[in-house]
Amino acid sequence: MPRKLVTATALALIAFTGAAAAQTAASPFATRKIDGTDNVYLFRYQGHQSMFIVTPKGVIATDPIGRYRPEAVTAYLAEIKKLTNQPVKYLIYSHAHFDHIAGGKPFKDQGAIVIAHKNAKTHFEWAKKQGALLDSVVMPDQVVDRKKTISLGGTTLELIYVGRNHSDSSLVMRLPKEKLIFVVDFIPIEALQFRDMPDNISPVEYEDSIKKVIALDWDRMLPGHPNAGGRLGTKKDAQDHLNYLQELSAEVKKVAPAKCTDAAMKEIKLPKYEKWGNYEQWLPGNIQRYCYWWTQSY
Ligand SMILES: [Zn+2]
Repeated sequence: MPRKLVTATALALIAFTGAAAAQTAASPFATRKIDGTDNVYLFRYQGHQSMFIVTPKGVIATDPIGRYRPEAVTAYLAEIKKLTNQPVKYLIYSHAHFDHIAGGKPFKDQGAIVIAHKNAKTHFEWAKKQGALLDSVVMPDQVVDRKKTISLGGTTLELIYVGRNHSDSSLVMRLPKEKLIFVVDFIPIEALQFRDMPDNISPVEYEDSIKKVIALDWDRMLPGHPNAGGRLGTKKDAQDHLNYLQELSAEVKKVAPAKCTDAAMKEIKLPKYEKWGNYEQWLPGNIQRYCYWWTQSY
């Protein structure tokens, strides 16, 4: 299980080095109000993003994105402070990976209730028993099993578990009135999955979770990392990503087991997706993942 944490570190470093480098001359952070809403914002610090909602009764914030950089949390809270004098009442973790959820203490210090999926809390408690420090993450005060709804100052936010995918603790955060969802790491917009889609979760379960997201009522998807152009995702993006996974799965199945794993990783190409982010780097890993699935059922 510690592999998860290592993987999350690698993900952040590898995926976003380019974005970070491009921003050295500019501010490392920015806040944007989501068009068509009164009070929903997307805070970006280098290559990570968090949604927050300002209400007359307090703020609902998500991922602190402060691992190895407390200045990101300082900037995040200062950006909120520019918009309201109300404190942060809730801090919600998108999933258990530290590049998204480290650094929550200043939120907790102003009274925020920290919420995560129950598998995240179980994992943290287990890891602590083994002696892991986990000192940069505030333990959740409340957990979500299948669904939890938060209401604050006229805003309703649903926290929905759609099964295991990029982690076993990913929450979809849905604003029903605004028809927005905040989805972190598991539905990349016009980009491939990270390497061999680690965390030992069946890609079939993964695909099912995306189908459940598509079945929800929403129009726009806020991602946990800025995609090229910074646009928000649509249902078409989620469907395109599901199509990509299913087409790749079918291609791998055709050549399994004879060419799994090394030859398949070299030979299979999906030109339809060659313009997507990380196509060259991560297609072989994505193929490897489906080889393991079709030949060894994991
Ligand atoms: Zn992650």
